Amino acid sequence: MESPLALKVKKLCNNLLAARKTKVKRMPDCEQLKNCPFFHNNMKNMPAIAEMLKMRFCRGDNSKCARYMVLKKLGKHAVPANLIPNQLEKAKTIISNARTSG
Ligand code: SF4
Repeated sequence: MESPLALKVKKLCNNLLAARKTKVKRMPDCEQLKNCPFFHNNMKNMPAIAEMLKMRFCRGDNSKCARYMVLKKLGKHAVPANLIPNQLEKAKTIISNARTSG
């Protein structure tokens, strides 16, 4: 049996999918999608939330993705394996720390 949160996330995903189908033009997938560890590996224990994040960032607006922000500013090597797309504050801290230490 799914938790109320999982059901809520599933409903949100379905709404996003329905909205995408009605859009005339959609954003392109993130160019990092093929090799991004988050997209392929992370959050296996929370698949509904992972799907929601993928819809929002990887197949939506990657400019707001924490992983993408760090990658663009500091390079692929600087992106922590456990960084999740919605962790913007963490991304800003990583970028800020790199600038002050480098
Ligand atoms: S997690 Fe971020 S960097 Fe990775 S594919 Fe999705 S939008 Fe791109």
